[in-house]
Amino acid sequence: MKKVLLCLGCNGSLEHKRIDAKTCSGKCRCKIWRVNKEKSVLVSFRMPIVLHTDLFLAAHACNQGVNAYLNNVVSDHLTNNYSQGT
Ligand SMILES: [Zn+2]
Repeated sequence: MKKVLLCLGCNGSLEHKRIDAKTCSGKCRCKIWRVNKEKSVLVSFRMPIVLHTDLFLAAHACNQGVNAYLNNVVSDHLTNNYSQGT
């Protein structure tokens, strides 16, 4: 059975969209962007250029942007190291 992905903004079908599409339209993309912006803080820090290049390549290999990739890596790290009851 073919898995039909749904839009993160309106739960509409993404059947005829790109394989990596997360929203059905620019309107839903903006909606998600605004929600995520309200639930996040901007973090700024320095890292060596070579590390940033490796980070960019690792994110690209996972078909993610650097922000999404870094968020997932940090989230997984914190979950694995600081979760309650483990
Ligand atoms: Zn939508």
